[in-house]
Amino acid sequence: MSVDVLDDLEAGELAVEFEGEEPEVVIEWAIERFSPSLSISTAFQTDGAVLLHMAYQIDPNIKMFSVDTGRLPGETFELIEQMYERYPKLQLDLLSPKAEPVNAMVKKHGPNHFYKSVENRLLCCQVRKVLPLQQHLAGLDAWITGLRRDQWATRSDIRKVEIDHDHGAIVKFNPLAEWSEEDVWDYVKEHDLPYNSLYDKGYTSIGCAPCTRPTQKGEDLRAGRWWWESGAPKECGIHCAIETGGLEHELRALIGDDSE
Ligand code: SF4
Repeated sequence: MSVDVLDDLEAGELAVEFEGEEPEVVIEWAIERFSPSLSISTAFQTDGAVLLHMAYQIDPNIKMFSVDTGRLPGETFELIEQMYERYPKLQLDLLSPKAEPVNAMVKKHGPNHFYKSVENRLLCCQVRKVLPLQQHLAGLDAWITGLRRDQWATRSDIRKVEIDHDHGAIVKFNPLAEWSEEDVWDYVKEHDLPYNSLYDKGYTSIGCAPCTRPTQKGEDLRAGRWWWESGAPKECGIHCAIETGGLEHELRALIGDDSE
């Protein structure tokens, strides 16, 4: 990490300054200050498409990353192909989880163990998503996310600039924090951006194929994620640390870390 990463006070002041500003203002500032040690995080949902389009106008060399968990729907890869056509200079890091812990987890619990308990699901999200992401973030000074306050209760108070203490105190920009779902779709349509065809089948949030389903009218946007769970946060642990009960011990065993 470089020495000029922001501290909490500076990030707080900037967040106040950026409140009410357009997302492009935040993105441009982030690029000027941190590129090339800056990358956009995407799960190939509409917010990621908006961020990429905005950032690409400012700097076509902007970097983007996502995690290919091994369980993504085919429609997501069709979208990735469309993105390469639309943005010829796209610099996408498609991260993979390490084979050993995935193999060990599947061998022990079976391929669809995430349906059996919240702990199992969180373990799978840790192994397949969070660990590869943590490893990638360790090489960056800042990242840009598509988080919005209207997505879920755990996101209702996010600021546009934060220090990400869960990931080495790098800077986390949330330029779309103030936007609504409608704002995002208006932008997607206005700029004719490629989007995941699952949205046309009733999905309002898209993740891994076995853990996402369409939502009904009136349901929360993320209600289709891990729909079989009740009372657990609709989060995988990337954007907020989750109380994981007893899984830390097993996680350490899976990744071959027996330090206590
Ligand atoms: S969303 Fe489902 S399949 Fe994907 S990493 Fe999490 S538990 Fe595993």
